[in-house]
Amino acid sequence: AIAVEGVSKRFPTGERDVLVDVDLTIGDGEFFSILGPSGCGKSTLLRILAGFERPSRGSVRLFNADVTDTPPNKRDLNLVFQSYALFPHLSVFGNIAFGLKRKRLSKSEIDARVREAVTLVELEGREEARPRELSGGQQQRVALARALVNRPRALLLDEPLAALDLKLRQAMQEELKRIQREVGITFVYVTHDQGEALALSDRLAVMAEGRLLQVGTPDELYERPSDPFVARFIGSST
Ligand code: ATP
Ligand code: MG
Repeated sequence: AIAVEGVSKRFPTGERDVLVDVDLTIGDGEFFSILGPSGCGKSTLLRILAGFERPSRGSVRLFNADVTDTPPNKRDLNLVFQSYALFPHLSVFGNIAFGLKRKRLSKSEIDARVREAVTLVELEGREEARPRELSGGQQQRVALARALVNRPRALLLDEPLAALDLKLRQAMQEELKRIQREVGITFVYVTHDQGEALALSDRLAVMAEGRLLQVGTPDELYERPSDPFVARFIGSST
């Protein structure tokens, strides 16, 4: 599981805590969303899970180990950014293989791993294309494959579909769900889109001003919101 205990965060330049006493446990294999308005602290929480930020107080445990002081590359998870951050000069194959470069793998093992990831995201035949020759959805698939090629135990996704138009976004939502089922690992999915969070998640947390207001299944939050903000925020889904 992923367990966050009593985490608060204040940036050195900040005047207030952008995360306030966050407690959260995410089960292995869960599709878990963090939903909240812009500026509420979603990305900061994700970056703390990934190890790019340290909490000011509290601890983070991943799969039964305290990782509060563990650097990002030593954590058994990967982060997918909103901007896919692909290398423009590398092919699809090269971009995905880059996720493996630090490991000492034979060329045939690299080939096999990349091919497996390419199949998973359904990009067969596009291995030699450059990112600029791909649609937004295809670029996002490359970013997903690059994050999955190391076979991490969890994937953290920070508004991965925000740059896509509505139609593509809906298609990619289904793809994300399919991929998560296929690999069976934990997905922690950050979004400010209520519809997306309700449609995709096993459970979700609603967040406002650095606090988790409620954690539960989509049905629980929709039927029994614990707080007027949750009711308004969930209820305004389209
Ligand atoms: P969005 O939906 O717009 O991406 P968010 O929920 O991801 O918003 P965060 O990026 O986590 O929000 O930011 C939460 C708060 O922390 C904001 O007030 C932001 O200005 C502040 N913040 C984030 N990063 C830093 C930083 N490196 N230094 C100082 N303040 C920061
Ligand atoms: Mg953000």
